[in-house]
Amino acid sequence: MYVDLPKVFSYCTSDKEHSGVAYVKDDILYIRGPVAWQKVAYNLTFAMKGKKVCRYCGKAIKRRKATIDHMFPRNIGGVSIPINLLPSCSSCNSNKSDLTYHQYKIYRTLDERKRSEYKNKINEHNEQMRYKKGFDLPKKWVEQADIRLIKARSIPENGRKQTKYRRVNRFVKNYHHVPNPLVISQNYFLLEGHTIYWVALDSGFKTIPVIRLENVIVEF
Ligand SMILES: [Zn+2]
Repeated sequence: MYVDLPKVFSYCTSDKEHSGVAYVKDDILYIRGPVAWQKVAYNLTFAMKGKKVCRYCGKAIKRRKATIDHMFPRNIGGVSIPINLLPSCSSCNSNKSDLTYHQYKIYRTLDERKRSEYKNKINEHNEQMRYKKGFDLPKKWVEQADIRLIKARSIPENGRKQTKYRRVNRFVKNYHHVPNPLVISQNYFLLEGHTIYWVALDSGFKTIPVIRLENVIVEF
């Protein structure tokens, strides 16, 4: 998949955990150093789609109140890639909760009573889908990759003891697939989904679903 990129973009982090830079040059996004991918994706989204108008209700967003919404929500595998992200006001973001972009458009046309009925129906469907397939994203986004080709930072000392690891591990043991695809760069560096990667590796997976960003290159 190709990410839509602005002509000019640069983002630096210098906090304790992450220090690095992400920048666009000749229509390629380069990432150097361990930059937090989600922050890059959010900043790219604001750069491309603005942060002044909510993309759901169309109202102006007050200064510093812009949030990022996942159009395919996280609980059905919605990852942080710009095509899945929209600037929104905090009230739309929280009302939408686990609905998709299109489901939320329908939800907004319903009266109060029908709204909760609709949300319950969708939640039930999403839950079923998650157990059967893991995630529910457009097929053309996702491909299978050999897990041995993926380059990731190694698991931290206490990584396997963390709640997140245990939660993903339980999911994989119960349903035999991963809950979200990984996001990787053109050169197979892992951008998002580290815990899932570790669990899959520990569980002996040979291939894993990934969203590979073809115009994103990680340089270390
Ligand atoms: Zn809104």
